[in-house]
Amino acid sequence: MAFLTEEDRKYTTVEDICAHLGDDYGKFCGAIVPPIFQNTLFVQPTEANGIQSSGYAYSRTANPTTDIAERKIAALEGGDGALCFASGMAAISTGIMYFLKANCHVVMVASSYGGAQCLLKGFFPRKFGVEFTLVEGNSVEEIEAAIRPETTLIYLESPCTFTMKMQDLEAVAAIARARGIGTVIDNTYATPLHQQPLKHGIDIVCHTVSKYLGGHSDIVGGALVARREIIQEIQNVDRTLFGGIMDPHSSWLLIRGLRTLPLRLKQHGENGMKVAAYLEKHPKVKKVYYPGSETYEQKELFAKYLTGTNGLLSIVPNGTPEQIRSFIGKLHYFQNGCSRGGFESLAIFINCDGDSIAHGNPEYLVRLHVGLENVDNLIADLEQALSCLPD
Ligand SMILES: *Cc1c(COP(=O)(O)O)cnc(C)c1O
Repeated sequence: MAFLTEEDRKYTTVEDICAHLGDDYGKFCGAIVPPIFQNTLFVQPTEANGIQSSGYAYSRTANPTTDIAERKIAALEGGDGALCFASGMAAISTGIMYFLKANCHVVMVASSYGGAQCLLKGFFPRKFGVEFTLVEGNSVEEIEAAIRPETTLIYLESPCTFTMKMQDLEAVAAIARARGIGTVIDNTYATPLHQQPLKHGIDIVCHTVSKYLGGHSDIVGGALVARREIIQEIQNVDRTLFGGIMDPHSSWLLIRGLRTLPLRLKQHGENGMKVAAYLEKHPKVKKVYYPGSETYEQKELFAKYLTGTNGLLSIVPNGTPEQIRSFIGKLHYFQNGCSRGGFESLAIFINCDGDSIAHGNPEYLVRLHVGLENVDNLIADLEQALSCLPD
């Protein structure tokens, strides 16, 4: 049910998958938008009711509205199936747990999302004796050297969402496969439109849909995509027992958001490129982190894996942390907030943690999300606020 059907596989372009996969007009009374199945249970066939089995039983295990969102995401990523969760962290923690064993060892990229790091550096070691090694991730040799006999998982995030560092997915997947080690990637930065890690040999792809996939800053959710046997086991066991399925209403909002994902990303990418190019030339900005920009350090990996850019970038401006916080406070369009991927522009001051600084991150940075507003107005807003910083 979380799997692509034969009919679904006829949708071969990103635009058609986003707009139309899952429209089952015959089943849904011709409704142009599929309905929200806002029901807890599904009655089963009896002699008295004479109905046929729909295959659904209880909405903690599967729900028809959630299924449509899952099949769209599976098709975009090129997986056999997908599962939606109540948050990105529910998807990520489930993906990680699939490959964990008590007392195993995990290799993890040091600049990956903070929540995933807290799990692997604190929760799993404390509860189940899991050990971990952090890597910077930009050299395959470094990752290979961190592997131990008891390693069961290599956890990747490429690009990461603060300094946008990338890993060579094909090379890491090959090393892992040869040793029977699982690979999980947080593919949130790229979205399935700009990178499909399964095609490069990665086992499980995780997303938060709270960012670009939902796209309207009105849902929290996650998704996990993989080959059939993994999806089947997680659907039957982990997701049903931990109970973290996405609710039908959020699923419906996600389907609504996905319809415009190609268009929105195109605009975020154009706006992001313009803002990045402006900031790279600005005398009050020391460093810009943006895949696709002139000064991006991993141009080869960008060309190999990513097919587009978006609105997320980080900068290190001149000045003390206090002066930089005051720069953020002077912005009118860029609201001070910690998410991204919606229609709105955002700016936030980030103190990088000690481990990521030890692996090449700066001490602090400003992360900007370039939204769908008029890009000249956004640049003018940055210009007036940057003028308060020292040369
Ligand atoms: C926001 C985010 C998450 C967490 O997603 P939630 O939906 O908030 O649980 C995970 N990874 C990345 C890269 C994110 O940006």
